[in-house]
Amino acid sequence: MIPILMYHQIGIPPARGSYLRGATVHPRRFANQMILLKRLGYRGVSLTEGMPYLRGEKQGKVVILTFDDGYENVFENARPILKSLGFTATNFIVTDLVGDVNRWMLPKSKLPAPLMTEDQIRQWHDEGFEIGSHTCNHVYLSQQSPEVQHDELVRSKNYLEQLLGAPVASFCYPYGDIDAPAIEAVKQAGYQWAVATHKGLALTEDNMWALPRVSIIRSNHLLRFYQKTLTQLSHKARTVYW
Ligand SMILES: [Zn+2]
Repeated sequence: MIPILMYHQIGIPPARGSYLRGATVHPRRFANQMILLKRLGYRGVSLTEGMPYLRGEKQGKVVILTFDDGYENVFENARPILKSLGFTATNFIVTDLVGDVNRWMLPKSKLPAPLMTEDQIRQWHDEGFEIGSHTCNHVYLSQQSPEVQHDELVRSKNYLEQLLGAPVASFCYPYGDIDAPAIEAVKQAGYQWAVATHKGLALTEDNMWALPRVSIIRSNHLLRFYQKTLTQLSHKARTVYW
């Protein structure tokens, strides 16, 4: 049983009442969370690095760290903290918006947040962190035609593999939008595993293309972080969806 943590932005949270204020974790709070994991003997790892532990092929105390959307503030603020602790993590990139802002959210959030540039994505990868795909346009995957699904999945994968000169194994469903055909399309596109947003600790018997995660939000103080991540108290009602 392994926690796969889901973060979005690591920065100064926007003003009270702002849309998705909850999805921005203060860098100090994030640092304290990572230091707590370290003190308790855990290592933060990328999704691909964590998979052998989830499958029972390796033993050890690991927590899988994932960041959705590829925000520049994750590169600027989370990366140094992770590096100082010897942790890695996975960042899921929206490939048609590299170096742009989170356009899919603007109609609601009105607050553009910069996304990583090609150079930053390359550096993230070269420093031992993982890059995964989050589609080309942050689409609701289950609502697309098979042709569009294929394009969103394969074109984003090819783009990243060309940029990095390395295979891309990991996928993340935008909005956690998932159904059986979408899972099949992700498999067919050549991804080795994928994460969604249904809640829970990941189990060995879970579908590897529909892994649950633990969402860490701005307001989670350290005790709550500990409880959500390292205890099963929050996961009593765990439902296996897929
Ligand atoms: Zn997203």
